[in-house]
Amino acid sequence: MTTAHAAAAVPVMLDLRAHRKVPASPDGYMALWELLEPVLVTLDPRSGPRVRLDLGEEGEVGVWFLSPATAPVPFSAATPFAVRGVLEPPRVRYVCDTCRASGTTTYAPFTCTGCGTKERPGRVCDAHAVFLEGSLRASCVRHEPTCRCGRPGRGWCGGPRCRSGRAWCDDHLVPHPGDASLAYCVDCHADRFPACERPGCPATGHIRCEHLGLDDARACGRRVCGEHVMRWQIYGARSKGLALCGRHHRDLRGSAPEALVALVVAGTVARSQARRGNRSGGRRAAFLPRIGIVRHIFINTCQRVLDMGAVDALFVRLQDDLRRRGGRDGGNLVQTALRLLDEQAASRREDVQRFRDSHEEGRGHFARLRTLLQQSGKHELADAVTFSDYRRKSNILFVRVPQDMRSRFIGTGGAVVQELRTRLGINIQLERE
Ligand SMILES: [Zn+2]
Ligand SMILES: [Zn+2]
Ligand SMILES: [Zn+2]
Ligand SMILES: [Zn+2]
Ligand SMILES: [Zn+2]
Ligand SMILES: [Zn+2]
Repeated sequence: MTTAHAAAAVPVMLDLRAHRKVPASPDGYMALWELLEPVLVTLDPRSGPRVRLDLGEEGEVGVWFLSPATAPVPFSAATPFAVRGVLEPPRVRYVCDTCRASGTTTYAPFTCTGCGTKERPGRVCDAHAVFLEGSLRASCVRHEPTCRCGRPGRGWCGGPRCRSGRAWCDDHLVPHPGDASLAYCVDCHADRFPACERPGCPATGHIRCEHLGLDDARACGRRVCGEHVMRWQIYGARSKGLALCGRHHRDLRGSAPEALVALVVAGTVARSQARRGNRSGGRRAAFLPRIGIVRHIFINTCQRVLDMGAVDALFVRLQDDLRRRGGRDGGNLVQTALRLLDEQAASRREDVQRFRDSHEEGRGHFARLRTLLQQSGKHELADAVTFSDYRRKSNILFVRVPQDMRSRFIGTGGAVVQELRTRLGINIQLERE
């Protein structure tokens, strides 16, 4: 590469794109040039401006004469050449570690953690990459993931414990119940698709039992499917009641009103905390049910008919009890319970007052009903019928009549009860027994 007489130098460009040993230093280029020059001087640039020189094992080198018309003819050992440029092969930034080990350089679009070092992540090419089902995470053949049992992995588990970071073999993967292309390890499958508590039920127990006592650290949580869940309708007919497992639903029947009030409060506390926790702004806050509903819960659940004052007293007693405890060991649950009870207090007073007014009115209607029965000679019926409830708004008097007298009270084709309705000017309904 002599450039002593710059004007006379023959300008060339070297094309090293097909050369396997591209020099990494100026010395390397000198060595390459010394290999090329003896061949170059034997060429005639006018027979073709681009020539390829075969270097055997090391591949080819292309020489481009940039100004063939002005080149001296023929070249001699003294002809000076000027290298104006070098075309190098594009450098591969991410090289497959498997290919590199066998002496070739291949672009590697994927990473293999096993091949990586502390300084750089391992790489693997298209040809050497291995993929398991369930994730686009690759590895090279040598680092193919294995299951905990030691056998080759067949798929990644996308479940909540593994998060596609652990591979499992065929024996240790359980298919998704509705989508055969997805699979989970045994533990993640049990987390995601818990069995319904009802023996033999094949459905997933998506719903957790919400039964919670005021002294419990957490709710029962037993898993129940949508079909077997029991809803305790403590928030009225239109809102979803508390979800209960079979055992806790059965337990309700034998529970005293005091215990039921505590369950209503604790269950509502849990809901209120869950709603605050997930900040799903759109959802309504949780409120304790109005005591009119609670009164009906007692009638339906433990067959106890309490008047509103008695129902209110149960809440007041619980509130006092919690306030005493609140000072000592008032956990989060007790604090929230006290807040909900405070919020409910005004509506309770209102409900009690309205109930009393309406009750008085209802008692008046009931007394007249009895008188009418006696006047028409139905003394036995008059003695047996009892007052249950009166709804002023809908003008309905609810009464209880023993099973064996119901047909007499109703009369043929409803004639007796219809006559009573007309004469009293109110609707009369028999409580379902
Ligand atoms: Zn490769
Ligand atoms: Zn690897
Ligand atoms: Zn898993
Ligand atoms: Zn396995
Ligand atoms: Zn079920
Ligand atoms: Zn339960």
